[in-house]
Amino acid sequence: MGKYSSRGCLLADKLCNCVSGIRILQEMEGSLTARDRVGIQDFVLLDAYTSETAFMDNLRKRFNENFIYTYIGILLVPVNPYKELGIYTKKQLDIYMGVSFFELPPHFFALADNVYRTMISEANNHFILISSESGAGKTGASESPAVLCSVLTVSSKRMLTLNVLYLQAFGNAKTLKNDNSSQFGKYMDIQFDHQGAAVGGHVLSYLLEKSRVVHQNHGERNFHIFYQLVEGGEDELLRCLGLERNCQNYRYLIQHLGNVHFEASVLGYATLNSSAEVHWLNPCLCSIYHFQVLCPFTAEHAKYARDALAKAIYGRTFSWLVNNINESLANKVCIDGKDIIFEQFCINFLPYFNNKIICDLVEEKHRGIISILVSGTESTTDFTFLEKLEEKMCGHPHFITHKLADQKTRKTLERGDFRLLHYAREVTYSVVGFLDKNNDLLYRNIKEVRGSTTACILPWFFFFLQVATQFKSSLAGLTEILMTKEPWYVRCLKPNHCKQPDRFDDVMVRHQVKYLGLMEHLRVRRAGFAYRRRYEVFLKRYKALCPDTWPRWKGTPAEGVPGLSKSSRSETVSIRRKKFIKVWKNLRRFFTQSCRFI
Ligand code: ATP
Ligand code: MG
Repeated sequence: MGKYSSRGCLLADKLCNCVSGIRILQEMEGSLTARDRVGIQDFVLLDAYTSETAFMDNLRKRFNENFIYTYIGILLVPVNPYKELGIYTKKQLDIYMGVSFFELPPHFFALADNVYRTMISEANNHFILISSESGAGKTGASESPAVLCSVLTVSSKRMLTLNVLYLQAFGNAKTLKNDNSSQFGKYMDIQFDHQGAAVGGHVLSYLLEKSRVVHQNHGERNFHIFYQLVEGGEDELLRCLGLERNCQNYRYLIQHLGNVHFEASVLGYATLNSSAEVHWLNPCLCSIYHFQVLCPFTAEHAKYARDALAKAIYGRTFSWLVNNINESLANKVCIDGKDIIFEQFCINFLPYFNNKIICDLVEEKHRGIISILVSGTESTTDFTFLEKLEEKMCGHPHFITHKLADQKTRKTLERGDFRLLHYAREVTYSVVGFLDKNNDLLYRNIKEVRGSTTACILPWFFFFLQVATQFKSSLAGLTEILMTKEPWYVRCLKPNHCKQPDRFDDVMVRHQVKYLGLMEHLRVRRAGFAYRRRYEVFLKRYKALCPDTWPRWKGTPAEGVPGLSKSSRSETVSIRRKKFIKVWKNLRRFFTQSCRFI
């Protein structure tokens, strides 16, 4: 490194732990050949930064050389390698710990360590938001901070074990996109004491996709735990649960419906025709009290009641599990990270970019899709729901159905479809099953049966919130939590649909770059300065430089900060402060120089 850059390193490192300049200089000094081969480690430094093609070239080059991480400023962009790269070892971790952000090649460890050190130095809360499409590596990434944490304290391994073993076993399943797809949103919190030791944690789970318990699309599976239990459970356990060691015997696991099935009586009413163990369910699965009158179900209704019960039990078991994990973590240790996946429809709320028109279309009061969904009664069918949508949304530029489409588009839509024109592309949703998925309802007498059961299911708490309503309120809760913290972002990319290593599908990656708003993010980064701090934080850190602000500044932080830069003219500074100011001036020059390159 040349004279200027090493001084830059020193100053930046010592004073504010912001070494954006270092990476600039490193990049400048890196030999052109190497740069050509492995690309640039921060997109902010790309010459043709507005060009999507240049962005893609850089990403591809790095991926081909197994450099799966690239920065956009402090945003981390990993591309799933679908192979072991040996970059998550303890040795690697040691290399990254305590080293300034841009000094080493991009890595999740660098981000996590930087978040940790910023938290300690600024004494405030932070969160890491990891987002991507299914299979891009959110869960993989969110486990990395756990690895980091495991060096902070041994007991955090407990969290990793709990997370991986329990939450993934109960909350993940094989889908077409990902063999280990998370079927719930997860927010994990880590609490540190003032010395930076992890002392406790909490997990929040969102919107478990319970419908998977009773139905899986072709080529997909039920939650992992069922197969693990049936194939791997101890004999004694299986005997207690009355289970056999063969998944093929269980219809929920091989895509038929549940093993409890029904026959129609001569009058067409359902009767339970199955195993003795669940005969106590007969009255509630085959009939319902309506105004004190016992009304028998048809076989169709009874199947619905059975599936609703199965989903409810699973949902409550999962909540019970999360509560237990939280109890075991309270005041022990945890990790920070957020791994959240919502169904495509709900994903519209995530603030990747200005998506207001679609957000309004989905959630606007009285007129949005969710409002119409929530206002539906039990007697509404999927198709009357679609009719209502058509009535309210007719003429909306982002909403099309078979009926509303022009002749050409109509050919691409089924009668039960509606299509939303999202920011990046159109998505077609089938209305079939929409109401059912939304209605988290159990027939009333199924709730009552919980009192009489001797089955070893823990007490459940039944309620009747619709899924969309639950989603909205839990998202509001999450937003509230996040508003109090400083954000860091990770946007994972998936290189191909085939889950294969060394395969970079340009069209697919380009599409994700677009809908994750990465080009917009890059433009914003380039437009501003590389080093950013809130006025309050900056003033607090450097107020000693200026007699006007030291020891107490009475004005607003924004007014106080420009005063700092004038401080170098002060004649009354102490020797120590003079030294400090010299360093500060150099630092300022350094950043001014750096900013010219950005
Ligand atoms: P979903 O939204 O469906 O839950 P996801 O974004 O959480 O998907 P992961 O389950 O983390 O995706 O990743 C899918 C698979 O990709 C993993 O099971 C693993 O095989 C592979 N993978 C992910 N990240 C990495 C990585 N950093 N290194 C190697 N393989 C990885
Ligand atoms: Mg996942």
